[in-house]
Amino acid sequence: MTTRSQFRIPDGLYEELKKWAQANHRSVNAELVARLEKSLGDEPEVAPALTGEDKESTLKPCPFCGTDDAFVERGTLSSCFVMCNQCQARGPDTCPEDDRDLELEEENDWEPGEAAARRLWNRRA
Ligand SMILES: [Zn+2]
Repeated sequence: MTTRSQFRIPDGLYEELKKWAQANHRSVNAELVARLEKSLGDEPEVAPALTGEDKESTLKPCPFCGTDDAFVERGTLSSCFVMCNQCQARGPDTCPEDDRDLELEEENDWEPGEAAARRLWNRRA
């Protein structure tokens, strides 16, 4: 069910919305709804190409139990390791320096050592 309504949107904002709608191959209406749902806490409906999830930052399934339920844990002395939430399997420890050889272009809230931890975990899987 949908409700039909009218809104006044500033020209610039509308143009921006239209641009993203085109980029995502959907109507301005669909773009607006998707973004509203996202900001209201529902499941995001952003095209995969725009989510910014690269292969390096995605964890592979646990090599022991096969679950996807693994996460990056921060240990002592700024070390990082990936841990399986299911069987408690633990990936190799890293230190922040391990990230140095990586060509990272992460902008915000990047934790040193995290990329290396993910990389090592993915290598084992
Ligand atoms: Zn596991």
